[in-house]
Amino acid sequence: MTHPTTQLIHNPYTPPPGFDAPQPGVFKASTVFFESVADMRSRYTSVVDKNSYTYGLRGTPTSYLLEERLCALEGGTRCLLAPSGLAAIAMVSLSLLKSGDEVLIPDNSYGPNKDLCDGELKDWGISYQVYDPMDPSDLEAQISSRTKLIWLEAAGSVTLEFPNLAEMVRIARRRKVFTALDNTWGAGLAFNPFDLTPGSVEPLAVDVSTHALTKYPSGGGDVLMGSAMTRDTAVHRRLATTHRRLGFGVGANDVEAVLRSLPSMPLRYRAHDEATRALAQWAQTQAEFVQVLHPSLEESPGHAHWKAQCVNGAGGAAGLFSVMLDARFSQAQVDAFCDALQVFRLGYSWGGPISLVMPYDLESMRNGWPQHLLRGTLVRFCIGLEAVEDLQADIEEALRVLR
Ligand SMILES: *Cc1c(COP(=O)(O)O)cnc(C)c1O
Repeated sequence: MTHPTTQLIHNPYTPPPGFDAPQPGVFKASTVFFESVADMRSRYTSVVDKNSYTYGLRGTPTSYLLEERLCALEGGTRCLLAPSGLAAIAMVSLSLLKSGDEVLIPDNSYGPNKDLCDGELKDWGISYQVYDPMDPSDLEAQISSRTKLIWLEAAGSVTLEFPNLAEMVRIARRRKVFTALDNTWGAGLAFNPFDLTPGSVEPLAVDVSTHALTKYPSGGGDVLMGSAMTRDTAVHRRLATTHRRLGFGVGANDVEAVLRSLPSMPLRYRAHDEATRALAQWAQTQAEFVQVLHPSLEESPGHAHWKAQCVNGAGGAAGLFSVMLDARFSQAQVDAFCDALQVFRLGYSWGGPISLVMPYDLESMRNGWPQHLLRGTLVRFCIGLEAVEDLQADIEEALRVLR
């Protein structure tokens, strides 16, 4: 093995051990080497327990590290990374449901979750029903012998109603139906999805928590990733099997970016939270906004549930609020208001440094207009890390197009 070309590949040098630094090393691989055929065969038995490596798709030191840190954040014991938050949602539904089953989703669920239920799942013989997230008795009434999974979201997407999470999980447990919470909003900081009633003898837990790491864990608006977490080994095995069969991998550089952002996440979350509450309170004083939706506001649907779940626990209310613009404004006027914003940029997603705005056509997203919402046109604000006074001035200036 003397030819330089070969030595570029099979080089005998290995760096000395003992290097240690704040940021962990980034391991990239499709191929993982085995010492021998026997070694290769022996590793497959233990891959679920993170004590061996077989192939890049099935885990590297880098991906294991992020999974474990996310467990520490959200209170789970087993975590899997997926290429996006939506991929994590899909993985959960595909692993816990089969043809003939039914899944229940809240009316204010993350839109693409509903689309998956109404698309592939329906095509494959898995039906779905939509329940009223503010009425646990409606959820209970819709559970049948075919119901195998209930999706939960707190707060709900776009309209930010805060449900009685603990009561819905209790119902699901009693009826022996799996629960999966889309925990992107709470991010493991607002409340613990695996201990919804802190202080009680038996922790009340969801079965699975999914998280769009794209949002606060990334914090930069430049990474797409998701996770699915559980405390139940049997559920983890089902998720891990589906994860493997679907070939869900994540890039090591993306994992590195999330690992680098994660330590500052609690500080960022608090900063987004404080700025959002200040702006939501101010928005209540603006006549054009007939309703302001943010769980910390008394007028916001589910405020009491938010208070019970989040304030007495770890606290927090994330960085989103929505406003209902008076029904007298046309869609064109509302669009002009959004276009007039200069600091807020038009774009999807949230959790990054830049504040974002988006108008929504609520009528097309819901099974009828929700009783607890006034009529109007909904606009959602995602608050970044800019100075609050600049954001308020921007909205104030844009409101001129309506005056
Ligand atoms: C953004 C988001 C997702 C999906 O995350 P992606 O990484 O963009 O696929 C899922 N659920 C909620 C509540 C989200 O806000």
